[in-house]
Amino acid sequence: MLTNDQLDKWDRENFFHPSTHLAQHARGESPSRIVTGGEGVFIEDRDGNRLLDAFAGLYCVNVGYGRTEIAEAIAAQAKELAYYHAYVGHGTETSITLAKMVVERAPSNMSKVYFGLGGSDANETNVKLVWYYNNILGRPEKKKIISRWRGYHGSGLMTGSLTGLELFHKKFDLPFAQVLHTEAPYYFRRPELDMTEAEFTAHCVAELEELIANEGADTIAAFIAEPVLGTGGIVPPPAGYWKEIQRVLKKHDILMIADEVVTGFGRLGTMFGSDHYGIEADIITIAKGLTSAYAPLSGSIISKKVWEVLERGTDENGPIGHGWTYSAHPIGAAAGVANLKLIDEMGLVANARETGAYFNEAMRTALAGHAKVGDVRGEGLLCAVEFVDDKASRRFFDPSAKVGPAVASALLKRGVIGRAMPQGDILGFAPPLCLTRAEADRIVEETRAAVTEVFA
Ligand code: PLP
Repeated sequence: MLTNDQLDKWDRENFFHPSTHLAQHARGESPSRIVTGGEGVFIEDRDGNRLLDAFAGLYCVNVGYGRTEIAEAIAAQAKELAYYHAYVGHGTETSITLAKMVVERAPSNMSKVYFGLGGSDANETNVKLVWYYNNILGRPEKKKIISRWRGYHGSGLMTGSLTGLELFHKKFDLPFAQVLHTEAPYYFRRPELDMTEAEFTAHCVAELEELIANEGADTIAAFIAEPVLGTGGIVPPPAGYWKEIQRVLKKHDILMIADEVVTGFGRLGTMFGSDHYGIEADIITIAKGLTSAYAPLSGSIISKKVWEVLERGTDENGPIGHGWTYSAHPIGAAAGVANLKLIDEMGLVANARETGAYFNEAMRTALAGHAKVGDVRGEGLLCAVEFVDDKASRRFFDPSAKVGPAVASALLKRGVIGRAMPQGDILGFAPPLCLTRAEADRIVEETRAAVTEVFA
């Protein structure tokens, strides 16, 4: 058994943590938190703290922690057959079963699912498939991908380019030239304060139309977007946004990739965010909630329209030149099958809808009147509180004041984990979908107390 001090030392000496201030961490200036267990919406750390995880890890532990059904399914699969690949028509009972379960739950125009490991690699797959699709259709120029500022689609080379957050580009020589960014559908940060939601939607649509006109529709292959902006600030779209955006995409024969890594499998109170907003995607990205993060697994769900062209492509060119060693890994698939069953059995999609509405309303009631709270917004079991220095003029805090992180850290001291979102002073919530009303009340109460403390 390791002592805490030893672990801390080894951590700082050996472990390259993602999304971490490397120098501060190595020097011991930022805390390390070593997590040892979890049950339901709670996690425990090595210091014996029991914390209500109101961000479900990284919005991924949809069924909550400690579900033995999933652990047992993983163990059974590992004992029976820990690995076999999925190349040239191979598969396992679990991977085939999971593919069927995913397609059954997806919108009715979907046809097949390709399994990867995480959201980033799934979006890399999507871009490759879109390029392949246009090459097979004899449109080699139609290759650019439009993403939105503040969109988050991963941190690989192409997906880091698609991501519309400065931190993911700066010093990495990204974004790539094939990626274009358009306006974020972020009503609270609309360019003119007196714009209505409908006017702001029209503005976003006009920006998109202009970008397409400037670049030429025959050079643009796809538009990628999260149904609700996630890491960019947890921002539901303004009224009418998805209907209008899809009208433009259809007009210019631009494919729609719905990145449902966060919204897939119940988070908005529907199985997919596309169901919630009436998005008719050509490709859907899934990860996180697919296994509730009990094992790494992601997927690209491909529509019939795209699939037919891919089939044609292999008839003309031979097997598709795309695959990972761990595509459809049996252990991930076993976790996925058990997880999707549990989501159904526990009624988590309905709970996300009902408890999500309750939670958002309670947060609004508790905080919207506070002088430093500019916006409380959310959908399903996603919620964000955005802080402003001056409400009337919507003057934001200087980022160096780190107001968002200060509230998150005051909240943590009160035993609740929220997330200081990476761009802006925004406190985000995305709790497990098994959240009860009593747990929602506790998050709201502690948030109110943390906000009061920070702005005292
Ligand atoms: N897409 C979205 C919408 C995400 O939120 C994320 C991760 O948070 C990703 C893609 C990337 O997923 P991963 O971190 O598993 O690569």
